[in-house]
Amino acid sequence: MLGVECYDGCRRFSFTLLAVNAEIIAVGSELLTPFRMDTNSLFLTEQINQLGVEVVLKSIVGDDLKRLVAAAQHALFRSEIVIFSGGLGPTEDDLTREAVAEALGVTLRRDEAVLASIEQRFATRGWKMSPNNAKQADVLEGAVVLPNPNGTAPGQWLSGKFDGRERIVILLPGPPHELKALFEAECRERLRSKLPPASLATRVLKVAMLGESQVDARVAPIYKRYGDVQTTILAGAGEIQLHFKSRAATMDAAQARVDEAADAVEEELDDAVYSRNGESLEQIVGYWLQMRNATLAVAESCTGGLLGERITSVGGSSRYFSGGAIVYSNTVKTDLAGVPADMIERHGAVSREVAAALAEGIRYRCESTFGIGITGVAGPTGGTPEKPVGLVFHALASDSGTEVIERNFPGDRQRIRWFATTLALDMLRKKLM
Ligand code: AMP
Ligand code: MG
Repeated sequence: MLGVECYDGCRRFSFTLLAVNAEIIAVGSELLTPFRMDTNSLFLTEQINQLGVEVVLKSIVGDDLKRLVAAAQHALFRSEIVIFSGGLGPTEDDLTREAVAEALGVTLRRDEAVLASIEQRFATRGWKMSPNNAKQADVLEGAVVLPNPNGTAPGQWLSGKFDGRERIVILLPGPPHELKALFEAECRERLRSKLPPASLATRVLKVAMLGESQVDARVAPIYKRYGDVQTTILAGAGEIQLHFKSRAATMDAAQARVDEAADAVEEELDDAVYSRNGESLEQIVGYWLQMRNATLAVAESCTGGLLGERITSVGGSSRYFSGGAIVYSNTVKTDLAGVPADMIERHGAVSREVAAALAEGIRYRCESTFGIGITGVAGPTGGTPEKPVGLVFHALASDSGTEVIERNFPGDRQRIRWFATTLALDMLRKKLM
C-alpha cells in the first residue's frame, strides 16, 4: 500500500492513501516539434487507469536540465506517482536521470552489473560500445533497476519518502516498444501491489456513422440520470466513442455503475453501437464473418486499398478475407472486377451502377460470400457540380442481392477515404448481424 507517515508530536503513525494520483512527464525536445508525437503517455495512461489510478497531469519537457528539474520537482510535490518517459539514451541531451536525481536530492551511482549487461549487449551483436553508453548504467541511489529486454537503457523504480511525502518515481526509456515491454514486465504488478484495490471502472462504446450532435442529443438525458459516471465523447471520421468512468467503494460497484449507464446508452442508440468493449470496427466485422463462416472480397477505387488495409490489420483475417483489387482506372475496373466498359461510359466511373458492378464482380471472381465495391471522388480535384468532391458510392453484394449507399462526405481527401471505408465496413456489419 502506498502509505503516508506522519508525526503528531512524538508519535509516528501511517495511513494509506485512498486517492492516489499519477502524472506523466514525457521527456524529449523532439516531442516539442511537429514531427514526433508523445504516444507513450497514451499507453501509460491506459495502463494506470486500469490499476484504478487517474492521471491528473501530463507534461512534455524538452532536453533541458533546468526545466526538467523544475518539472520533476513540481510533479513530485503534487502527485503520488510520477512516471518519466524518455531521456534515458546515451547522448548528452538525455538528462532524465540527472534531473530526477537533482529534484529528489539523491546521488547517481554507476551500477557495475548494469554496465556489464550493456557491454554484453553490444558484444553479442558484435558492435563497439561507445563510451557515452556507460552513463546508461547510472542509477538513482535507492532505485530498483528494471531490466530492458529491448534496449540498453534500463528503467528505474524508486519508492520512498521525499520531502516527507510518500512517492513512487518510475523512469522508462522513450522508444515505445521498449517502454511498453518494460512497463508490462516490471511496473504493472509492482504498482498494483502498492495501490489500494482498484475501484475505477471504465467502459467504451463505439458508434458508427452517426454525427456527434446526433449522438449527444440522444444520450444527454441518460447522462443526467448517471451523475456519478464521468462521460466523454470522442468524435472521429465516421466514428464516435463514448467513454464511461466511475469510481466507487469497490471495483464491482464501480463496474456496475458504468455498465448500467453504458447499457442504457446502447439501448437508446440501438444497432449504431458496434462495439461494447473497445473493439475496432474491423475486428467486429471479422468476428461476425467468422461466426457466419463467410468470406469477403473488396474492389476499391477512391479508397485505394485502405479498406483492405483496415481489414487485414486484424490478426487472423486470412480466415475470412479473400482479397480484392485496387481498381483505380476504368480499364482495371473492367479487367479485374468485370465492370462492363459501356456501363462506365454511360453512368461514369463514380456511379451507383459501377459500385454495384464492382461489388458483384469481385465477389464472383474471388468466389466469396460478400463483395464490397467503393467508388467516389476523394478530391481535392476531380469534382463536378453533378459529382462533387466527397460523393461516394458503397456497394455490398451477397447472395441476397446488392445494396448501394450513396453519401456526400465532408472534409479532405484522407477524411473522405476514411469515412468511405467506415461506411462500407458498417454496411457489412449490419448485414452480418
Ligand atoms: P529517448 O529515450 O529519449 O532516447 O527516446 C528515444 C526515442 O523514443 C526518440 O527518438 C523518440 O522518437 C521516441 N520517444 C521518446 N519519447 C516518446 C514518447 N513520449 N512517445 C513516443 N515516442 C517517444
Ligand atoms: Mg530523448
